Amino acid sequence: MAILVTGGIGFIGSHTVVELANNGNEVIIVDNLYNSKIEVLENIKKITGKDFRFYQFDICNKEKLEEIFKENKIDSVIHFAGYKAVGESVKEPLMYYSNNLISTINLLEVMKKFNIKKLVFSSSAAVYGIQETPKCSEKMKRGETTSPYGTTKAMIEKILEDLYISDNSWNITILRYFNPVGAHSSGLIGEDPRGTPNNLMPYILKVASGKLDVLNIYGNNYPTPDGTCIRDYIHVVDLAKGHVKALEKAPNGLNVYNLASGKGVSVLELVKTFEKVNNLKVNYKFVDRRPGDLPEYYADPTKAYNELGWKTAKNLEDICKDAWNYEKNK
Ligand code: NAD
Ligand code: UDP
Repeated sequence: MAILVTGGIGFIGSHTVVELANNGNEVIIVDNLYNSKIEVLENIKKITGKDFRFYQFDICNKEKLEEIFKENKIDSVIHFAGYKAVGESVKEPLMYYSNNLISTINLLEVMKKFNIKKLVFSSSAAVYGIQETPKCSEKMKRGETTSPYGTTKAMIEKILEDLYISDNSWNITILRYFNPVGAHSSGLIGEDPRGTPNNLMPYILKVASGKLDVLNIYGNNYPTPDGTCIRDYIHVVDLAKGHVKALEKAPNGLNVYNLASGKGVSVLELVKTFEKVNNLKVNYKFVDRRPGDLPEYYADPTKAYNELGWKTAKNLEDICKDAWNYEKNK
């Protein structure tokens, strides 16, 4: 029996494939390499010493997707494939609604057809949207999302809820990630976005390595202790391990978990920690706020601990060291 991982060559998917394989699972990967490179597959093989069946195509193509289910005995699916750039989603909403929704609906239809009803879905803290308090708990209702990207995640969560209501024999785990960063300690896989990075850590890495001149810190007048935004950063290897636990331990039914450290960290705190642990300088300047950014949010991760026995093992220093180790190796 095997686990199908959609988007398994991407940042979080590749680290999860490693953890799944290290735990003795057979893994099949599908990815169209829209936002990833084929070298990652070789590096996953190097890290694990294992081989993987890999399909390269767009899962919006339902007929091709069916082929995977015909050719393999799959018992569960982890669904990472999707577009994820918040800013780009504001400029190209149709592209985001089309890819993220069609790929997911196709996948669910094919799973239903082959009677495979165990799914782990990559959702996001973005579904909390605007809330009254910064600490996000699964008990809260989804809030108003601030980008088409976030809306696709909220819509998919709703689709999954409706699917489960229609047929209680599905086992669906929705994982809401906060800010995944860091890289595998081997330095062989990490985050390697196309073009100029949008996210904070990949941008820091480009400035630290001299590929970009200066990090723009968006806003220093937020109502936070140092004026910069607060987020909950999670090491990608911890996050990957959360998926293994979700497959093994999530109770039957539809369950939602935050995967995060539970600790709020400001932009400046992250930059300073990165400089300290790697003994280098990151040139930065303060610029205007970025539209759509919320001042502060972080997770309550206790549900994942209580029900899955999962919590983060790596701290901010580990995150900064591993991220830089990956960038230096590139
Ligand atoms: P990523 O872009 O590195 O990985 C996604 C992978 O999916 C890529 O390799 C891409 O080529 C592939 N893909 C996209 N559309 C596809 C399609 N139609 N068919 C086949 N392959 C397709 O992103 P990531 O950071 O690894 O994120 C994985 C998932 O987690 C995404 O769904 C993302 O929205 C979600 N998520 C990410 C973050 C984050 O900050 N990285 C936070 C919350 C949630
Ligand atoms: N940020 C920044 N400069 C950048 C990229 C991000 O100051 O070049 C800030 C951003 O305003 C936010 C935090 O870093 O407060 C994390 O942003 P990111 O885009 O990584 O993730 P988000 O929290 O938006 O999902």
